[in-house]
Amino acid sequence: MKQITIAIDGFSSTGKSTLAKQLAKALGYVYVDTGAMYRAVTLFAMQNELVKDGTLDGAALVDRLDEITLKFVFNPELGYAEMYLNGENVEKAIRTLSVSKWVSHVAEIAEVRKKLVQLQQEMGKVKGIVMDGRDIGTVVFPEAELKIFMTASPEKRAYRRYKELLDRGEKVSYADILENVEKRDHIDSHREESPLRKAAGSITFDNSDMGLKEQFERIHNYALRVIQG
Ligand code: C5P
Repeated sequence: MKQITIAIDGFSSTGKSTLAKQLAKALGYVYVDTGAMYRAVTLFAMQNELVKDGTLDGAALVDRLDEITLKFVFNPELGYAEMYLNGENVEKAIRTLSVSKWVSHVAEIAEVRKKLVQLQQEMGKVKGIVMDGRDIGTVVFPEAELKIFMTASPEKRAYRRYKELLDRGEKVSYADILENVEKRDHIDSHREESPLRKAAGSITFDNSDMGLKEQFERIHNYALRVIQG
């Protein structure tokens, strides 16, 4: 079967990663969650006190980028790869609300983006990949054979994220999550470096009122059509 590159972009908490994981599994492709990479860099900044007193020291983070090694390690029990920061599994630590509060600021830094985009392009060289993020169809793989742009109402997205964090045992309020989702939407779409945009040639997918099964079937069908040409 022909191997293609599938780029999935969209607003936060649209369920991109759930869908991308399912799709990769069904096609026997590799799944790469680029949000996890930005989150891991953010965690590094927090662990090293580069986020202090409500401010991020972006210049210091740029100076220390060489100290950051990111790796995805496949976990056969889960069926997907987990994020490792300097040899440590940070899959859980990067999903907290405190990391979510800083990640969009870290992702505005041009040097951070340059480092991560390079890594992502390296991972995608072999094709047979599903990558999700904000700039995959526009910057990382503008030539991807299939590009999907996912969206849903902020309230629906905030509610999904709220439930996810509650299930994980984090004490959060719906209002805080909604505020975070809206703030990240704004920063992600208005930043100077690679703002979130619908890529040319991408298919818009609004899943506000669509269950997971239907979403998967539709996107899987798109993918099969492109693969079978
Ligand atoms: O996908 P997720 O919500 O985990 O991404 C966290 C944040 O990382 C986003 O809100 C965005 O600021 C940033 N990001 C990005 N470019 C990507 C992936 C994520 O700027 N390709």
